[in-house]
Amino acid sequence: VSRFLIALGCFITVAFISEYFWHKSRKEMLTDNLEKLRQANSDPLTKVPNRRFLESVYFERAMKNPADYFPLSVVVVDIDYFKKINDNYGHDVGDRVLIHIATLMKNAIRATDVVSRTGGEEFLILYPKTTLSMAVKLAEKIRLEIESSPFIEGDIHHPITASFGVATALTDANINATVKLADEHLYEAKGAGRNRVM
Ligand code: GH3
Ligand code: MG
Ligand code: MG
Repeated sequence: VSRFLIALGCFITVAFISEYFWHKSRKEMLTDNLEKLRQANSDPLTKVPNRRFLESVYFERAMKNPADYFPLSVVVVDIDYFKKINDNYGHDVGDRVLIHIATLMKNAIRATDVVSRTGGEEFLILYPKTTLSMAVKLAEKIRLEIESSPFIEGDIHHPITASFGVATALTDANINATVKLADEHLYEAKGAGRNRVM
């Protein structure tokens, strides 16, 4: 009986150990995969994911695992009067301002949120499992952070502001309409005087 119990104990231990490592390596493979996809679909200047990452990777995942993503809040961010920065200091300084703003936003979000560069001086932040009222607060926090972090380099000391449009998708059927709505809200924020969240 004792030999049988020892053999059984050994068997169970070995089975547990191999199962544990199998799960661990599978999990690592999945996150590794996501990291590779993110790197392959990133903007070379600011190093944040681009629009292709959102459309072909992130939104697909959200639709496959809705419970992990919805409500999904979308915040579109557009730097105010960015053309003036290029005109005053040149395109290279403009590029570094984009890096400055992207870094600021990356540092302001949680690990589960994503900031991406969707156009010239336009960014999109995704907040999974976040309600509209919470997303408005988070956007306001980033707005203040940008406003209080001027771009400083040599003799250049230039205040930067940005405008924000927020919308929330409650189910996976609404992602595209939600991005469009956030864009409309951004347009309203520009019309209402810029440097604000709508
Ligand atoms: P608004 O407040 O209405 O958003 O005004 P704006 O000047 O920010 O917007 P507008 O769309 O008129 O100008 C955007 C400028 O962004 C024009 C374009 O040359 C510049 N831009 C786009 N991509 C880049 C880039 O990668 N680097 C630099 N330096 N500038 C860029
Ligand atoms: Mg702009
Ligand atoms: Mg723009």
